[in-house]
Amino acid sequence: MKDFVKEVLVSEENIEKRVRELGIQITEDYKGKDLMLVGILKGAAIFMADLARSIDIPVTMDFMAVSSYGNTTQSSGVVRIVKDLDTSIEGKDILIVEDIIDTGLTLGYLTDNLTKRGARSVRICTLLDKPERRKVNVPVDYRGFIIPDEFVVGYGIDYAEKYRNLPYISSLKEEVYS
Ligand code: 5GP
Ligand code: MG
Ligand code: MG
Repeated sequence: MKDFVKEVLVSEENIEKRVRELGIQITEDYKGKDLMLVGILKGAAIFMADLARSIDIPVTMDFMAVSSYGNTTQSSGVVRIVKDLDTSIEGKDILIVEDIIDTGLTLGYLTDNLTKRGARSVRICTLLDKPERRKVNVPVDYRGFIIPDEFVVGYGIDYAEKYRNLPYISSLKEEVYS
């Protein structure tokens, strides 16, 4: 796999440490509340698995899938729910768990959508944030790392469905795209 990696932007150790910190913070903030983690497939699956285990209160978990980038590196701006939640979120405190916030279109749409379903609160936890690319203003409540405007893969995040199993966040060599 190292043959495809250009540069490691966030190491395995740094991810592990930051996820633990986020878990401690979320545990404090949600004590006594009915917290439901909503992971956005597929990119947030690995982050969700680690984050959930770093939270020390009972939580429920569900997943949604939305269409965003497809197999290209360009945002379409179109948000479509491909897989919806299995359960009602009325009265629940929702924490959306996402891999990357880029333009903000996806999370802007999802926050609105889940709020309209009668959730008691809707907050956002994203592993990565690319603030340079923001088009809509979305409040990010929990953030792992700020990264530059570069296409990244690893720790759940793909290029054409590959590289999700890299244990760190990295950029890819040019030849991967050609
Ligand atoms: P937004 O709606 O904020 O523009 O898009 C966010 C989504 O686009 C992320 O959740 C992620 O799925 C995808 N995305 C944004 N930047 C990258 C990137 O560098 N690499 C990959 N693989 N996906 C990205
Ligand atoms: Mg995503
Ligand atoms: Mg993708």
